[in-house]
Amino acid sequence: AADLERPEQTRVLTVSNQKGGVGKTTSTVNIAAALADQGFNVLVVDIDPQGNASTGLGVPHSAETDSIYDVLIDDLSFADVVADCPDLDRLQVIPATIHLAGAEIELVSLVAREQRLQRALDQYHRYRDENGQERLDFVFIDCPPSLGLLTVNAFVAAREVLIPIQCEYYALEGLSQLLNNINMIQKHLNPPLQVSTILLTMYDGRTNLASQVAEEVREHFPDAVLNAMIPRNVRISEAPSYQQSVITYDRSSTGALAYLEAAAELVQRG
Ligand code: ADP
Ligand code: MG
Repeated sequence: AADLERPEQTRVLTVSNQKGGVGKTTSTVNIAAALADQGFNVLVVDIDPQGNASTGLGVPHSAETDSIYDVLIDDLSFADVVADCPDLDRLQVIPATIHLAGAEIELVSLVAREQRLQRALDQYHRYRDENGQERLDFVFIDCPPSLGLLTVNAFVAAREVLIPIQCEYYALEGLSQLLNNINMIQKHLNPPLQVSTILLTMYDGRTNLASQVAEEVREHFPDAVLNAMIPRNVRISEAPSYQQSVITYDRSSTGALAYLEAAAELVQRG
């Protein structure tokens, strides 16, 4: 769409929610793919040891693959480990491997343990510049469902937090813990950090519960919640088994259209 302008600076978003299964990885993969599809330069940083974002975007992440683990622990650079998404020209991935499961512990004793991701990302911006590569428009960091040092690194490296919320019972439960942690990070490590975006996921408009939850979330966060909501859609859940985003897997599905809409809104709200 011609009306979507590139952001003036790279926007770095951490996709976080300490609950598992709420659509963090699915939203990371599909918003990133939607933006790349619209011509933006996008980088996904996978910092979940499960490596689901790496899988979903079709990049290798077996135990032998150089990955975000080697960046955080052994000082490899992003340029050493970055992989191209096979389906979308402007989409790159820093993969995660199972080794990352140990990083939470290994980070504890390292110098600048909270800043290692931020430093690697800053260095990569300079690397791209020096090598004549276009500036990144968006960076998405896909977090594990915990608030440990990996997630702290993501909060320190980002300006924005994107919180996916599943429209079900207990959607808001535990969210205050996440918000407290973000406040702590703002206070001590990264003052500009803000919850810029909340995305309602797995929305089933046929149930009263889903619309009640959506309404409640909008009341709590009137400015951050996107108008676009992601419906529960089988194409979204099928796409990862083909190692694809739903954008390339089935572009006309309601799931793909919803993620394209959410991505456009994210750009416009810049
Ligand atoms: P998280 O990263 O927060 O743990 P995921 O993104 O992996 O959550 O999603 C959990 C599961 O729900 C996955 O199997 C995924 O395919 C499925 N899922 C996520 N969003 C949708 C959706 N909108 N419709 C159908 N299935 C979905
Ligand atoms: Mg995940």
